Amino acid sequence: MALRSAYQLMRAHFGHQHWWPGETPFEVCVGAILTQNTSWSNVERAIANLKAARVLEARKLFVLEESKLAALLRPAGYFNVKARRLRSFLRVLVEEYDGDLGRLLAGDTAAVRERLLAINGIGPETADSMLLYAGGHHRFVIDAYTKRIFQRHGWSGAEAGYEDLQRLCESALDQKPRGEQLDYWQDYHAQLVMVGKGFCRPRQPRCAECPLKPLLS
Ligand code: SF4
Repeated sequence: MALRSAYQLMRAHFGHQHWWPGETPFEVCVGAILTQNTSWSNVERAIANLKAARVLEARKLFVLEESKLAALLRPAGYFNVKARRLRSFLRVLVEEYDGDLGRLLAGDTAAVRERLLAINGIGPETADSMLLYAGGHHRFVIDAYTKRIFQRHGWSGAEAGYEDLQRLCESALDQKPRGEQLDYWQDYHAQLVMVGKGFCRPRQPRCAECPLKPLLS
């Protein structure tokens, strides 16, 4: 019940977040790869570069030389690694799914997740972000903010891993009708990011001003 109350408190404080920030499902997937180990503002600058170069489409990005792609991704940090990871994703999308993201993300959620996890450089958080925000799959996204907030409130133990937290969220937050559930989970993760960024810092958390303070024991 604490998890459900948490959403009400966060939503009342921040309002609906309308996540994920991206104009198309493809842009969401690109952003999900680029946001690994960096802030969203850096990702936005890299995506703006791709848009300005008119290459934010699967085939156009895939035929770009890796060094040119890396140069456009520079603002996102680790740009050589991210260029390689993005190209791994694009290779599967273009060569196995004819560039059709809808096809790549279609089907049984667990099967699509396995498909994504098999791509070099796509881990659980990236795969689940693609599933939830680009593919419309019911899969909860867990990140470092989620882990920290849950531990500090005693909702999970220090040893809880990604799948443990995901199972916890998906079973505790399944109360909505199917038609509302997707938006609920999309916005729930976005709300946790807002709390993590603004209040629940690694050191000196700002509990006194945080919307989740009433749930601290
Ligand atoms: S800042 Fe404090 S009240 Fe807010 S989520 Fe973190 S531990 Fe909880």
